[in-house]
Amino acid sequence: MPKKIYLAEVYGFCFGVRRALDMTLKQNKGSVTLGPLIHNRYVIDELMRKGICYINSINMPKNGTVIIRAHGVPKQVVEEAKQKKLNIVDATCPLVKKVHIIAQQLEKEGFQVIVVGDKKHAEVVGIRSYLKDSIIIEKPEQVSKLKSFNKIGVVAQTTQSGQNFKEIVKRLRKKCKKLKAVNTICSSTEQRQKAALKLAKKVEMMLIVGDVNSANTRRLKELCSEIIDTKQVDNSKGLKVAWFKDKNKIGITAGASTPEKLVKEVVNRISTF
Ligand code: SF4
Repeated sequence: MPKKIYLAEVYGFCFGVRRALDMTLKQNKGSVTLGPLIHNRYVIDELMRKGICYINSINMPKNGTVIIRAHGVPKQVVEEAKQKKLNIVDATCPLVKKVHIIAQQLEKEGFQVIVVGDKKHAEVVGIRSYLKDSIIIEKPEQVSKLKSFNKIGVVAQTTQSGQNFKEIVKRLRKKCKKLKAVNTICSSTEQRQKAALKLAKKVEMMLIVGDVNSANTRRLKELCSEIIDTKQVDNSKGLKVAWFKDKNKIGITAGASTPEKLVKEVVNRISTF
């Protein structure tokens, strides 16, 4: 059995995910979320047991309740839901909404809006839907292919890395006369990554609790793997006794979509080894 189990200083649900889940749990049986609420199988199953399923398009009867996820949906989807007279529970994270507002304001002021983010990510698709014209840049290398503009306004997908944003902004300065960059990155992701790395430096093995489909969970694993032996489990059932042989100090962290209950179960099970 490991002598000591350490938890990262910050881990698990971020404010936006917790808020979205709380709002969803207050809804009646039969309500639906537009897409899975979060990337965590346990939470999705739990919601299904309470009679809250997810759907992929809003083909549903009038007066039904549809819940919008933390990273938002395209503006047109909200309009369609309104037209269909659906009851909309908007759990879009306020920090994501803030990006919509800032990007629209930049466009109004005549800036060519550039969004630093992952083109296919639902949050980026959502941000773009609020703009007449926008450009997405994922990596700094893409900047050289851009034409020049008079005024460029930059925002970021909330979960972008600060380093990527900084480098892209630096290169964009050469592409315009005036640049206004608003760093809209949410600190939750960075805080979790920093805390995980700090812990990884003082233990003999890191355990990341979270769903394989969760991008931020995978990132935590990648980062910690660069420092120390790192394993990832969905829940306590995935733990293997052999991992802990000759290991005295174990560090634990969890992705932003992992419920505290799963982390506690992992800690309790390790204590029985
Ligand atoms: S990561 Fe940040 S922006 Fe995204 S849902 Fe969580 S708190 Fe909101």
